[in-house]
Amino acid sequence: MTLAELERHVRTVPDFPKPGIQFRDITTLLSNGEALAASVALLAERARAHQAELIAGIEARGFIFGTAVAVELGLGFVPVRKPGKLPVPTIAVGYALEYGADRLELDPGAVPPGTRVVLVDDLVATGGTALAATDLLRRTGAHVAAALFAIDLPDLGGAQRLRAEAVPVDALMTFPGD
Ligand code: AMP
Repeated sequence: MTLAELERHVRTVPDFPKPGIQFRDITTLLSNGEALAASVALLAERARAHQAELIAGIEARGFIFGTAVAVELGLGFVPVRKPGKLPVPTIAVGYALEYGADRLELDPGAVPPGTRVVLVDDLVATGGTALAATDLLRRTGAHVAAALFAIDLPDLGGAQRLRAEAVPVDALMTFPGD
């Protein structure tokens, strides 16, 4: 499946979750077996190129792609979670959203120091979420080898912000606008 064909499996929903946002919905890609397999294979190829030793996925859609990539490469998977979900003491980071704030948590014991971790999420917009996850992973002593996304919204500058923090970024598809 070509990337142009893959792109056609992403559903764009205008004005969700609020007016002016073009929501890039990957559930239509996930429900197509060929598109799902192609996305995972392509992300896994890129994670392998970055010599991943461990895959970290951001809740919730990063769990779907991240776990599949880990299985494809025979690697472990670590979840970067929303607050209050992990049953052990965590390290946490707060980050700003367009409206409001959010928080991510990680079990510091899940990542051996020095591990080359590849971070996976469905989409990068402003990059705030992936930068927060990078901060957490780095606090464990991990090396964030790359951040991989199914979709990049380049007009929002997230990929650029990650690169400015020395995180290589790769995405399968790009969509203009926000
Ligand atoms: P950001 O922190 O701004 O890079 O936002 C990335 C997170 O928000 C990802 O986990 C995405 O799932 C979600 N997200 C942000 N903007 C969109 C959008 N236009 N369509 C779908 N998901 C989005």
